[in-house]
Amino acid sequence: MKIQNYINGEFVNPIQNNWIDNYNPAIGEVYGQIPSSTKEDVQKAYEAAQKAFPTWSNTTLDKRSKILSKIADLILEKLDFLAEAESKDNGKPISLAKQVDIPRAASNFRFFANAITQFSSEAHESVGLNAVNFTLRQPIGVVGCISPWNLPLYLFTWKIAPAIAAGNCVVAKPSEITPMTAFLLGQICTEAGLPKGVLNIVHGLGTSTGQAIVAHPKIKAISFTGGTKTGAHIASVAAPMFKKLSLELGGKNPNIIFADCDYDKMLATTVRSSFANQGQICLCGSRIFVEEKIYDKFKKDFIKKVAELKVGNPSEESTNIGALVSKEHLEKVKRYIDLAENEGGKILFGGDKVAVKECEQGYYLQPTIIEVFDNKCSLNQEEIFGPVVTIMSFKTDEEALSLANDVKYGLSSTLWTNNLNRTMQFSKQLHTGIVWVNTWMLRDLRTPFGGQKDSGVGREGGFEALRFFTEPKNICIQY
Ligand code: NAD
Repeated sequence: MKIQNYINGEFVNPIQNNWIDNYNPAIGEVYGQIPSSTKEDVQKAYEAAQKAFPTWSNTTLDKRSKILSKIADLILEKLDFLAEAESKDNGKPISLAKQVDIPRAASNFRFFANAITQFSSEAHESVGLNAVNFTLRQPIGVVGCISPWNLPLYLFTWKIAPAIAAGNCVVAKPSEITPMTAFLLGQICTEAGLPKGVLNIVHGLGTSTGQAIVAHPKIKAISFTGGTKTGAHIASVAAPMFKKLSLELGGKNPNIIFADCDYDKMLATTVRSSFANQGQICLCGSRIFVEEKIYDKFKKDFIKKVAELKVGNPSEESTNIGALVSKEHLEKVKRYIDLAENEGGKILFGGDKVAVKECEQGYYLQPTIIEVFDNKCSLNQEEIFGPVVTIMSFKTDEEALSLANDVKYGLSSTLWTNNLNRTMQFSKQLHTGIVWVNTWMLRDLRTPFGGQKDSGVGREGGFEALRFFTEPKNICIQY
């Protein structure tokens, strides 16, 4: 099947007619092709967006809100179809796509359909000077949205929904590794009555198509989610043009477990936070630190639970762990596992590729637990982004805090304790944008989402996203 670009409300081939193979990771075979778009395709998308902007930015909030809500309705109507497409394109278990990815894509549109009707700006009276100030929050114009492969439709729509809700027109690029549901979103937007040119979806490689979006002088803001290295490169291209930038990057998140926690809930959640989506979620807790008192018990129970996870064909409902997204990614994750022994680590469970029946060429890996004794090892410092976690014990609160913060990333952390004082101390002192206490991945879409340190710049979510996608202008009137 050939996927096409979605420009000015129409599906079109790339101008130079170059194509990239699209793989099904469950069986390791090509199942379609996607455009390898160039600067010229991005220019066409830009022109369509620019043309749509004057009308869309003056469309009433009520009308914008209704169209976004309709997109949400249609996503839910097609939930099973979209979930199957996502699972096939990405390798994720169908159950996860049905329960998380696709419902959340609908929620992204529903949330911003509502949020835009509640968004407001400030007024300041300059007392004694007979003046009043008010702030206009105006849409920026044409903006670029670039997303990764791990939660394809979920993260793509997390950017597009606030951008168009705020009155911008968009040139968007999904990951070339998982383009399918972004393609299907184009059809849904047309069906929902989104005017031509408001959303344009251009497929292709990061280094050509993505680069053309970032380098386009008239695309005034870039919202990017992906790797830290790519984020740094994008910043180096966009910053000299003074573009607004939102960068959601990598993570190496600590999961800190104290003996006083609710043990059963912690154990079940830790299995999820380690291996959901094959560990390919930026929020997965890949470094597990356990208080010494319960370390041996945790080790035993954790291994037992992880051994129960079924690695299998993602299209089967009973599968817990599907395929990794690509052959290259599988090899990268495997290289880290192979480092374990050289780094003084010990593989407690897993570590090997899995040959799944009738899917022998698919990219499967066992969930892997590695015991480490030093936080400085690359297994604990570098983002692996696969079904691999390390575990290590600690004795004191100070030691746990210092281990958690001793990393260049700062996306999220998880803390398991029932001690209120400790909860407050850690909440204040952990260097991450998100701290979960006694839970994981509980998302309230109104909250600021993003990372500190090398995990990014800026926050998405709620009014933060609407602020990012608007330009504040202060008007001062003296009377
Ligand atoms: P990536 O950086 O390789 O690619 C992300 C997107 O950027 C893709 O669409 C890609 O084509 C594009 N791209 C690549 N080079 C580009 C360039 N020079 N100019 C413009 N665009 C370019 O990341 P990935 O491998 O797709 O995704 C995995 C990474 O994403 C991990 O590091 C993960 O932690 C991170 N991530 C972060 C969050 C978050 O919210 N912080 C969420 C999910 C994933």
